Amino acid sequence: MDCVFCKIIGKELPSYVIHEDDDFLAILDINPASVGHTLIISKKHEEDIFALDEITASKALIVAKQVANKLKAALNYDGLNILQNNSPVAGQTVLHFHIHLIPRYINDGIELRPPIGSVDAEELLKLRDEILRGE
Ligand code: AMP
Ligand code: ZN
Repeated sequence: MDCVFCKIIGKELPSYVIHEDDDFLAILDINPASVGHTLIISKKHEEDIFALDEITASKALIVAKQVANKLKAALNYDGLNILQNNSPVAGQTVLHFHIHLIPRYINDGIELRPPIGSVDAEELLKLRDEILRGE
């Protein structure tokens, strides 16, 4: 399979590993948004959150927290964004499940907030009912 993360996990490609366990590898991003930008990658090739089984998905957040702590101890960052893209339309470029840990520093100038939209109460009620009907 032509997947860059599978190649990293299989050691066919080099990477900068900062955590490894049975299910995940954490590596430094080669195009970091900030100092310490890290990717938590599932060892099993699954495309995205929808393909992941629930146990692995829950372990992913545990590992994210452990690695975030490790980064905090080393880098003493001031804040942290946890980002996880699913599908190219949502910005996913490597179609193998991963979580971004993006350490943040005071005045780092990075803008990662979602755009602020607006909606009225009636629309929210309609939307809620539509979602609940679809369950
Ligand atoms: P996403 O856009 O959520 O799919 O994120 C993919 C991330 O993988 C990007 O931040 C890339 O910089 C990163 N990336 C791609 N190839 C490599 C690689 N060989 N080693 C480390 N990070 C990589
Ligand atoms: Zn893969």
